[in-house]
Amino acid sequence: MKFIDEAEVRVSAGDGGRGCVAFLREKYKPHGGPSGGDGGDGGDVVLVVDPGLTTLLDFKFQPHVRAGRGEHGRGKQQYGKRGSDREVRVPPGTIVHDADTGELIADLQDSTARCIAARGGRGGRGNMHFATSTNQVPRYAQPGTPGEQRRLRLELHLMADVGLIGYPNVGKSTLITTVSAARPRIADYPFTTLVPHLGVVRIDDDCSFVLADIPGLIAGAHRGLGLGDRFLRHVSRTRLLIHVLDISGLNGRDPLADFDVINHELTSFDASLGEKPQIVVANKVDLAEARERFASVRARLAERGIELRSISAATGEGVSALMREVGRQWLALRTTSAPPDDQAFREAVP
Ligand code: GDP
Ligand code: MG
Repeated sequence: MKFIDEAEVRVSAGDGGRGCVAFLREKYKPHGGPSGGDGGDGGDVVLVVDPGLTTLLDFKFQPHVRAGRGEHGRGKQQYGKRGSDREVRVPPGTIVHDADTGELIADLQDSTARCIAARGGRGGRGNMHFATSTNQVPRYAQPGTPGEQRRLRLELHLMADVGLIGYPNVGKSTLITTVSAARPRIADYPFTTLVPHLGVVRIDDDCSFVLADIPGLIAGAHRGLGLGDRFLRHVSRTRLLIHVLDISGLNGRDPLADFDVINHELTSFDASLGEKPQIVVANKVDLAEARERFASVRARLAERGIELRSISAATGEGVSALMREVGRQWLALRTTSAPPDDQAFREAVP
C-alpha cells in the first residue's frame, strides 16, 4: 500500500536576450565600428530539495513557474544581464517526469539534490562579432533563443506524519475531511472495505503534514483482525498520534474504556507505538450529550496526567486550534527526534 501525492506544474525558463545592432559614434570618428553587445542568457528553472518539506501541497498554489529573461544587449559593447534563475523547493523523494513525453527527468531522493527542469535560452550575439573584412558595417545581430518550457508531473510517496487513532465511528474520517487541503491517492490498494483516509494539512508555509487515519483498529487488530495490522505499520512511522474519543455516550460505550483498548492494541503491536506522544481529543461536542460529559471525562483523564481537548469535526469547532497545536508539536518532534527508519519501513510495508 502506497500513499501518493501528485502535482503538475508548468515551468518556463527565461528567453535569451537579443543581440544588439549598434555602431560606435564618437566625436571625429563618424564611421565607428559595430559595437552591439550580446544578449544575456535566460534564467533556468531549478528544482531544489528542501528537507523541511514533506508534501507537494505548495504546487496547488503555484501551477506555473517562470525564470527571468535575459536582458537585450546594448550599444558600446554592453552585454545584457543573465536572467534570474528561479528555484522551486520540492520535498526529498520527489520523482519528476515530463508530463507530455513521460520521460523521467529526475529522482530527487537526496536532501541536497537539485536539477534543472527547464534551461534558459541563449543570449543572441551582438553585431560587434560579425564584422568581417568584406562587411565592416554588419547590420545584423542574433536573436536570443527561447527558454525551455515543460509540463512536469511530480510524484511523491508519502509517509504518514501524524496518525489518527480511535475506535470506529468516533469521527476520524470526518476530521480528516474537515482539515485536509489535499487528499492524496492510495495506490495498489487491494481491499475495498477498509480504506485508510489520508489528508494533507497545511498550517502555513513552513508547516504542512500528512495525517493518516487507521481504520479497523479494534480489539485484536494487532493479531490481524480487521486488517488493522496493515494500517498499524503506517502508524509506526508517525511521530505523533491524535487519539479521538466519542464522548457523546450515544454508542453506549465508555470512552475511557475505548481509549484503553486502543492503547493496548498499539502497545501489543509494537511497544514503541504505545510510547508515541498522543494528543487526546473529545469529538462531537456539538452534541448536548457530549458537552454534558466533557468535564467528567476530562477529570478522569486528568487523574492520569492526560490533557483532554474538545472539538467538533462536524462543525469545525476547535479544529483549527487543534491542528495548529498538532503542527507545533510535530515540528518540534521533527527537529529533536531522529527520523523513523524509512528504509526499514518501506521494506516492511507490503
Ligand atoms: P470513523 O469511523 O472514526 O472514521 O468515524 P466517521 O468519521 O466515519 O464518523 C462516524 C459518524 O459520526 C458519522 O455518522 C459522522 O457523521 C459522525 N460524526 C463525526 N464527527 C462528528 C461530530 O463532530 N459531531 C457529530 N454530531 N457527528 C459526528
Ligand atoms: Mg473512518
